[in-house]
This record gives sequence, structure tokens and C-alpha cells, in this order.
Amino acid sequence: MAKKGLLEVQGLRVAVAGNEILKGVDLMIRDGEVHAIMGPNGSGKSTLAQALAGHPAYAVLGGTAKYDGKDLLDMKPEERARAGVFLAFQYPVEIRGITNSYFLRSALNALRRERGGGEPELDPIDFLQFLEQKLKAIGWDDSMMNRPVNEGFSGGEKKRNEILQLAVLEPRLAILDETDSGLDIDALKTVAETVNKLRNPDRAFLIVTHYQRLLNYIKPDVVHVLADGRIVKTGGPELALELEAKGYDWLRAGVMVS
Ligand code: ADP
Ligand code: MG
Repeated sequence: MAKKGLLEVQGLRVAVAGNEILKGVDLMIRDGEVHAIMGPNGSGKSTLAQALAGHPAYAVLGGTAKYDGKDLLDMKPEERARAGVFLAFQYPVEIRGITNSYFLRSALNALRRERGGGEPELDPIDFLQFLEQKLKAIGWDDSMMNRPVNEGFSGGEKKRNEILQLAVLEPRLAILDETDSGLDIDALKTVAETVNKLRNPDRAFLIVTHYQRLLNYIKPDVVHVLADGRIVKTGGPELALELEAKGYDWLRAGVMVS
């Protein structure tokens, strides 16, 4: 039996600051699949990621998005998060006055309460134990845990921290927006290894990236090209290599793609 769609997006149109950026996006992701969205700068990749996460600055003009059979667009951002949608930001935000450890523990406990599956909420001591494995995966000790979230972190540290959040929160749909940007090759490999470890039949990924290099380490099931607000081509992992070789211009508006 074919697996049902976890995320089904149809004809999604989204405006930012009064400009229509997404002009009818169709996308179907099944449980456990890894999809990559590639495309030139400014094509709307982050807009798609933010709209799916429910950022209020991204106004939905039309179309539908179903998540696990529910109307995703009708859910508040926090409801989406509780339902297992996670977005790793292209530009991670700093949160002054809240330590990384406190933030992660509160978020995890809130999710566990919501899931109601009998998973215990963790006190600070238990949480540190729980965190140890996750920290190892991204190559950190706990010294980053008592610092305010992302404050004073380097670009690469912020990206690793997003992946740590992903590892702790165990989402069902993880959207990674240019997590590879700003990472040196070692950090990129560590991040990719962590993502690969977190792949499982109940966790899908939408990996937004401008460059093919991350996809050398994370092999996607499906690659889409977003150009001028529409998905203009979909293929397998080989499409990423083709884009690396040929660039994006051959796929832009005005060029018919069969
Ligand atoms: P990508 O992630 O593919 O580089 P984005 O989705 O970030 O593209 O941006 C698509 C277009 O929307 C760009 O022209 C960008 O300037 C515009 N845009 C994105 N976010 C905002 C915003 N908050 N305010 C105004 N314009 C925005
Ligand atoms: Mg972007």
C-alpha cells in the first residue's frame, strides 16, 4: 500500500510585504521521505519554509496545505510545532536572558505534555542526561548550554544549535532552511551525519538549500527546483548534480521544462 502524504501542498500562493512570492506551489511529502528544495536566491525558498511554519509576515493568498490530514494553514504556529512541524531558521534568532538548556527543556516538556503519550517531563538533572547523547551527535559538550540561546554564537554555532533543537524536539516534519550556509566542511559533515541519524520512517525532512554540497552527505529521495515562485522541476538525487553542473538559468521563467 502506498504511504499516505504527510504534507500535501496544492496551489500555495504566498505574499510577503504585499508582493506575491509563491505563485502556486504543489508539493507532496510522505512520512519518512527527504525532499530537497533548491533554487536561485530570491526564488521563495525561505518564504515556503516560513509559510509552512506559520510565520505571520507570510500571507497566504490561496491554495491548501494538509499536514497529517489536517488543514495546516488553519493552525497557529505553536499548534503546528506541537503537531511535530519544526523549522530550522536560515537566520537563527538570539533569545536574551534564556539559557539554551532552559529553552530546550521547556520546549521538549511542552511537546511531551501536548503529545500526551505518557512521556515524562524532565527536570534539569534528567534533562542534562537526556541531552548528553544529542550533544555528542553534534560534537558539543554542555558548555554551550548555559549561554543565552544563540547570543554571541558564531554563524556555524547557530546552525549547529538549530540541529541540536531538531535532535531534542524529534519532529515529524523537519524543515531545514539553508542549514548548510556558514558551515565549514567539518561542521557540514557533522550536521549531515546528525540529520542522517535522525532519519527514520516517521520523520520527513524538507531541506532547503542553494548549494548541492549538503546533498553529497544527505541523500534526498526527491529534489525540487523552485524558481520564480513555482516548482519548475522535480527529480531524483541526480537533479542536484545536474544543477551543480548547469546552474539554474536553464530552468527560469520563460524556459519551458518538460
Ligand atoms: P530564497 O529563500 O529563495 O532566497 P526568499 O523566500 O527569502 O527567497 O525571498 C523571496 C522574495 O521575497 C525576495 O525577493 C525577498 O526580498 C522577498 N522577501 C522575503 N522576506 C521578506 C520580508 N520579510 N519583507 C520583504 N520582502 C521579503
Ligand atoms: Mg532563503
